[in-house]
Amino acid sequence: IKAKIKNHLAVKYYQDTLKINTDVDQLTQIANRRRFDETMTVEINKAKRTGTILSVLLLDIDHFKKINDSWGHAIGDRILCEIGQILKDSVRDEDLIARFGGEEFVIMVKCSNYASTIKLVNRIRNRIEKQSFTENCIDLTVSFGIAEIQSHTELTEALELADQRLYAAKNNGRNQVCFH
Ligand code: GH3
Ligand code: MG
Ligand code: MG
Repeated sequence: IKAKIKNHLAVKYYQDTLKINTDVDQLTQIANRRRFDETMTVEINKAKRTGTILSVLLLDIDHFKKINDSWGHAIGDRILCEIGQILKDSVRDEDLIARFGGEEFVIMVKCSNYASTIKLVNRIRNRIEKQSFTENCIDLTVSFGIAEIQSHTELTEALELADQRLYAAKNNGRNQVCFH
């Protein structure tokens, strides 16, 4: 029996470790896309019951290819980690941040109204604009597309809307938040 329990614990430890690894982005150590999708399903159902308003914010670094080209990929990687840290410091524990892929991040915030969500996003955008990244003091900006998840809106629709708005923010000159 002892051996069985020991074996069971070993398997459980292995599974837990694997679960953590498949949920976390290896570079930035924040949630990955898979984790985001999983959590959002739960959060949207909860929000429907409680009447909470959720918003999704898509962030894309401006001209990141140029930064990689001038400073190298390793510095680019460090910048991605530093952005992840800023995002972590900028939202509440009940909000969720994830690396959406490449140089894009996604944030889910719970806010009482859309106006305060827009304020929060602009605070983050400002903070990144003012920050000097890595020991090389690199300046950069980011663009945001944001959308509310209405009770009738499914996550994919909200993400598509946020993505269209992100595209608009880029076309409009970057370093800005597009919310309608
Ligand atoms: P835009 O302002 O239109 O977003 O321009 P951009 O250069 O940021 O966009 P583009 O899509 O042309 O390039 C994205 C760059 O992000 C290219 C790619 O090498 C870089 N990138 C994606 N993932 C990583 C990563 O994990 N590490 C590093 N260092 N770079 C990455
Ligand atoms: Mg991109
Ligand atoms: Mg970009």
